[in-house]
Amino acid sequence: MRKEFRDSINTALHNANLTGALGRFSEAYRISREKAYEGIDFEAVRTQIAERKGYAASHLDELAERFTEKAEARGAKVFRTNDPAQVRDYILNLAQANDVKTVVKSKSMASEEIHLNPFLEKAGIEVRETDLGEWIIQLAGQTPSHMVMPAIHMTKEEVADVFSDKVEAGQAPDIPRLVKFARGKLRTKFLRAEMGITGANIAVAETGSLVIITNEGNARLVTTLPKIHVAIVGIEKLMSDFSDVVPVLTALPRSATAQLLTSYVSIITGQVPNTDGSPKELHIILMDNRRTEMSQDPKFKQALQCIRCASCLNVCPVFRLVGGHVFGKIYTGGIGTILTAWFDALKASDEIQSLCIQCGNCTQMCPAKIDIPGLILELRRRLAVEKGQPLAQKAIFSIVNNRRLFHSMLRTASLAQKPLKKDGFIRHLPFFLSDMTEFRSLPAIAEVPFRDKFKKTEQKPQKQKIAFYSGCLIDFAYPEMGESLVKILNKAGIEVIFPEGQTCCGAPARFSGAYEVAAQNAKDNINALLEQEVDYVVSACPTCTVALKHDFISTFESLGETDSLPRAYQLADKVIDFSTLVKKLVDEGRLTFKEGRQLGKVTYHDSCHLKRTLNVSQQPRELLTKAGYEISEMFEADMCCGMGGSYSLKLPEISAPILERKLHNIKETGAPLVVMDCPGCVMQIRGGMDKDGTAIKVEHTVQRLADELE
Ligand code: SF4
Repeated sequence: MRKEFRDSINTALHNANLTGALGRFSEAYRISREKAYEGIDFEAVRTQIAERKGYAASHLDELAERFTEKAEARGAKVFRTNDPAQVRDYILNLAQANDVKTVVKSKSMASEEIHLNPFLEKAGIEVRETDLGEWIIQLAGQTPSHMVMPAIHMTKEEVADVFSDKVEAGQAPDIPRLVKFARGKLRTKFLRAEMGITGANIAVAETGSLVIITNEGNARLVTTLPKIHVAIVGIEKLMSDFSDVVPVLTALPRSATAQLLTSYVSIITGQVPNTDGSPKELHIILMDNRRTEMSQDPKFKQALQCIRCASCLNVCPVFRLVGGHVFGKIYTGGIGTILTAWFDALKASDEIQSLCIQCGNCTQMCPAKIDIPGLILELRRRLAVEKGQPLAQKAIFSIVNNRRLFHSMLRTASLAQKPLKKDGFIRHLPFFLSDMTEFRSLPAIAEVPFRDKFKKTEQKPQKQKIAFYSGCLIDFAYPEMGESLVKILNKAGIEVIFPEGQTCCGAPARFSGAYEVAAQNAKDNINALLEQEVDYVVSACPTCTVALKHDFISTFESLGETDSLPRAYQLADKVIDFSTLVKKLVDEGRLTFKEGRQLGKVTYHDSCHLKRTLNVSQQPRELLTKAGYEISEMFEADMCCGMGGSYSLKLPEISAPILERKLHNIKETGAPLVVMDCPGCVMQIRGGMDKDGTAIKVEHTVQRLADELE
C-alpha cells in the first residue's frame, strides 16, 4: 500500500466534519430506511430487480436495438458506442454545430465517468451542474464523494464559504438561505442554456422511454428549457418492459434516501415540443464502456444489476469513516471499487479494494442482490494473478500451507511471548509490531493448544459422533472455548471427534486473493474432516463455518478445480455452526437448561458471517434467554466490530474507530457482559475492553452456555 493512499485514509479519518456528517447520516439512515420499507416485501422486490436487471444484462444487444427502434420512431437520435471518447466528441460536435455556449446538467454518474465537464469547458463551453450537491462540488473543484449525495462530506459552513468565494461574497451558513441563493443563481442558467444534459435511471426498450428521477426537479428544467436534450445512458440502464420500472421505482428512493417516492419522476418518450412549439432535439447516447464485456464475465455480470442507490455506501462501516474521496475515483465504496476495475482498469482498483472489510452489510441491503464482498474477493484474486503476491505474504502463506510447520511455529511463539504476556493478554508489542496492540490488547497464545488438551479429554464412546473443527483461534488462543463445546456435546450424549489433520480454514489466504493457498487449505481440511463417518462437522467460528460450508466450493469453482467439488459439497452438507446445533439439541430435548436461573443482563453482538452468510441471529439469543439471561439489545448489534481477520492488522487505523463505536454501543446497554459466537470478535472486543480499562466481560456463547446446561 502506497504511503499516499495511507495518508489519504488518515486525512479522512481526522476530518471531523466528514466522519461526523457521514456517521450521523448512516446511523439515521438504517432506521429511516427500515421505516420506508414498512409494508413492502424487500426480498420480493429485490428478487424482481435482480431477475429483471439480470435478464437485461444477458440481452444488452437485443434491448439496445429495440430501444433504438422505438426511440427513433418517436423522433430521438440514438448513438451507441463503447468508447468514452466518442461520447465526448459526439456531444462537443453537436454543441459546436448548434453554437451552444452554455450547457446545464442534471446529475449523471455516466458523464462523471467520462470526465465530460472538463472536456467541454476546455472547448470553451460553460457547463453548469444544477443538482445542488453537484453544483457545490463543481464550484469546490472536487469529485462526488457519494453517488446520491455528492456533497455529503461538506458542512454548511464550508458550502457558504464556497458560494462566497466562487459566486457572491457574504453568504451565511444558513441552509434555507443557501438553497434559495442557489435556486436563484441556477434559474438564470436554465433560461440561458442552449443544451441540457442528463443521465437516466432506466431506459425502457419496449417504449423507447427514459425514466429520470430527482428530488430537486432540476432534471425537468434541464430537459424542458434548452432546445437540445442529450441523455447519456450507460447501457446497463436498459430494461425490457415498461412494467420493469415498478420494482426499481419502489426500491430506489427507499434504498437511496429512505423516501417512499422521489419528488420528481419524469418519463420522456421521444421528442417533445419546446416552449415555443418547435420540436426539441433529443439525442440519446447508449454508452457501453466495457459493460458488454462485463456482461460476458460470469462473475461480474451481476454488477450490471446495480441501480445506483448507494445503499451499500450508507451501511458500509468503512465508508462511513473515510467517505468517498479516499477511493480517488468516480464511483466510490464497494460497488465503486468493482465499477472502477471495469470502467477504468483492474489495476485502478488495486489499493481501494483493500478497504473492504468483508462484513457483508452491503449485500444484505442491496436492492439488486449484488454480492459486493464476493466480487471484491474476485478482484483480489485477479489482481494477485496479474501482479503476483507480495513476498512477505507469500512466505507467510507457505508456512500456513504446511500444517506441521505452522503449528510448531505457534507452539514456539507461545514460549517466546512469555516476557510480553500478562493476565492472558499481550498489551504491547515492540518495534514495527507496536501498531497491532495500539488500540486493543491481543490474546496470548495458549500454553497448551486445544488439540493437545483434547487428547487428554476423557469421553464415553457414543453412538452419535460429531467432528469439531476448531479453527486457529480456538486451537491456539482460546482452547477453553473448545473444551466448553466438548462438554456441551457430551451432555447431549454425543462423542466429539477432533481430526488431527485439520488446519487453517484458508480465510486469510482467500481474503488476500491467494486462492491457490486457500485451495490447498481446503483440500487438507476436507481430507481430515471426511476421514471418519460423523453426523455433523461443527465449528464455533462463523468465518471458519462459512469457509467449510461455502468458500471451499467457491474457491474451487474460481480456480476451475471441478474435481475437488464433489467432496467439498459432501463436507458442506455436514457443516453446522455451534448455536444452530445446540438450539437443535435443546429443541429435541437432548439438552436442558438448569431451572430458575436469573443470570442478569447480557448484550449480544452479531458476528458478520454468522448473521449475514449463515443467517443465524435468533438462535444464540434464544439459547441465552433460556439459560436465564435478559438480553439488552445494543444499537447496531449486527454492525462489524472492526476485526475482519487480518484487516485489523493491515488497516489498524480503520479497525480502531470501528471498534470504538462498537465498545460505545455495548457500554450504552449497561450490561456487564457481552456475548458473541465468533472467537475473532471476542479477540477484538475483549482486547478493546482491556485496552479501554472497562470491566465488561466478553465471552463466546459456548462458554456462557456450558455451565447453564444440565
Ligand atoms: S450495489 Fe446495490 S446497494 Fe450498491 S448502489 Fe448498486 S444497487 Fe445500490
